[in-house]
Amino acid sequence: MKVPREESAPVVGATNPDAKQGAFVATPAQIASFQKALTDWFRSCGHDYPWRRTRDPYAILVSETMLQQTRIATVLERGYFTRWMAAFPDWRELAAADEEKVLKQWEGLGYYNRARNLQKAAAIVVRDHGGKLPPRLETLLSLPGVGRYTAGAVLSFAFNKRAPIVDGNVSRVLSRQFACDIPVDTPDGLRLTWERAETLTPPREPRVYNSAVMELGQRICTRRSPDCPACPVASSCRARQLGGVEDFPVKKNRSGVTAHEERVVLAVRNGKVLLCPESGTRRKGLWRLPEVSEEASADLEEMLRFDYAITRYRVTLRIFPAPLGGVRESDWVGARWFRLSQEENFPPLGSPYRKALRLFSEIRGDGIPSG
Ligand code: SF4
Repeated sequence: MKVPREESAPVVGATNPDAKQGAFVATPAQIASFQKALTDWFRSCGHDYPWRRTRDPYAILVSETMLQQTRIATVLERGYFTRWMAAFPDWRELAAADEEKVLKQWEGLGYYNRARNLQKAAAIVVRDHGGKLPPRLETLLSLPGVGRYTAGAVLSFAFNKRAPIVDGNVSRVLSRQFACDIPVDTPDGLRLTWERAETLTPPREPRVYNSAVMELGQRICTRRSPDCPACPVASSCRARQLGGVEDFPVKKNRSGVTAHEERVVLAVRNGKVLLCPESGTRRKGLWRLPEVSEEASADLEEMLRFDYAITRYRVTLRIFPAPLGGVRESDWVGARWFRLSQEENFPPLGSPYRKALRLFSEIRGDGIPSG
């Protein structure tokens, strides 16, 4: 079966075998370099928000609660945060306020339970902690409306505690940095993302680091069209190295996804690799690794495999060496040899095949297939 591909065929797969098994793969030096690049960048051009000018845990909880389902621009431009802080400047004022007045201040933000939870949290802080929030994770998590992300945000932004945060922005950045093919919206994916966030959060100035990684996701590593040339951590980004940035983060299969298997041959001879043009009009102008039938590959030992997603298909790309006796260009219409060391001279190559070649070059020396 032929799988239709779009021009921007995504690369999704086990780009990092260790990551696939859930292991954290970054050296202390790499982690330190990542942290430094991010925090330097943030210090030089991070945005200045009102809630970044305070260390008051109450104000930070208010801002984080407002931002849970509302864009920063809305909260800022319409003055929600400033008005709220003027109306209820601390835990006690909020705890003592009429609910109607509280909801009025929230008007237009929607999800009014957020405001109700804030007021309940204020009542608890006043009743149980004398109006002073202790910097403890378990205390924060016991407050209504406070989950792991919000707790981490308050601990790091208000108290400068080494507490990781994972929201959609952080998750996207980490998923791309590690080219993680474990869906981020599964228990395994979530666990792995939090583990990575925890490991990457530095003991020194976690406040700055957390602000930086979030802001990177908001401004640079955006869901669509990330601005990789402006990214301070582009050099460590695995998804970028593999040319498949838009394919991350991977989300779990939605209904209607069809599994498909694709078999290709990676033939190398005299430092050159055999590529052939795509057939059909949809992929006109792109090149690929030559496809082999199940029968022709039956006796070949698989070299590599990974999955990628395209429209409603989840494709398992299986990569085989050239068969004994070699291959001929004439076996595929228009096939030609290209020098492996001159990737810049390759014709436009579909993302999965570019990724296959990258993976191949990484394992080179462990037995280069020839044909
Ligand atoms: S290089 Fe691009 S994809 Fe990678 S983290 Fe930076 S902005 Fe995101």
